[in-house]
Amino acid sequence: MDHIKENISEIKLRMEDAAAKRGIDPGDVTLIAVSKYFPVEACKAAIDAGIKYLGENRAQEMSSKFEVIGNKEVFWNFIGQLQKNKVKYIIDKAWLIQSLDRLELAETINEQAKKHGIISDVLIEVNIGDEIQKGGATPSSLDNFIKEIEQYENIRIKGLMAIPPVCSGNKVRDYFKQMKDLYEEQKAKELSYAPFTYLSMGMSSDFEEAIEEGSNMVRVGTAIFGKRA
Ligand SMILES: *Cc1c(COP(=O)(O)O)cnc(C)c1O
Repeated sequence: MDHIKENISEIKLRMEDAAAKRGIDPGDVTLIAVSKYFPVEACKAAIDAGIKYLGENRAQEMSSKFEVIGNKEVFWNFIGQLQKNKVKYIIDKAWLIQSLDRLELAETINEQAKKHGIISDVLIEVNIGDEIQKGGATPSSLDNFIKEIEQYENIRIKGLMAIPPVCSGNKVRDYFKQMKDLYEEQKAKELSYAPFTYLSMGMSSDFEEAIEEGSNMVRVGTAIFGKRA
């Protein structure tokens, strides 16, 4: 597991360089270590190496890892497509659900959060490339999507998340720039139920570009843990 520690130090250095290019404090960029498909031992190794945020994309996997690790040392992020009937497994475990991609899911999250007497923090997933096969609010529907959430008293929108289309060269920067614009536009509204704090974008292959274009939360899996089986 030594490679995990080394990889994390290297990622942090690269994040610092990217933050410097943007002219922001590296401490203002949150690193989510995406531990999906890796065993609990890998999560523990990451925590020992200073990781404070883990990301998982399957409800039962997150729930069973949570049972072992708990949330005293680490904040759990749910980042995958979430089926309505799986919300109950993660509602009281996720510090942040980053993948609110449709309104009917908001209804379920709200119901479950109410049941547990909590406010559920979420990010809205934006389908920034307007890809038909992907979920998420399209850039043109985002405004209305956010308005619709106001009725759900147990949901608080903390910002936006995106996975841009696979693209080559510097094209990805355009998507990151568009996301930053959408984020600032919504943040400026200062809605009580949508205190924007996080713009989650950037993965192993493009987290530096993402930070340079305004991301303050990156989700890195492969570059920390290695290739997923
Ligand atoms: C798997 C995953 C990541 C991490 O991807 P890597 O390329 O392994 O860094 C980030 N975000 C989401 C939503 C994911 O599903």
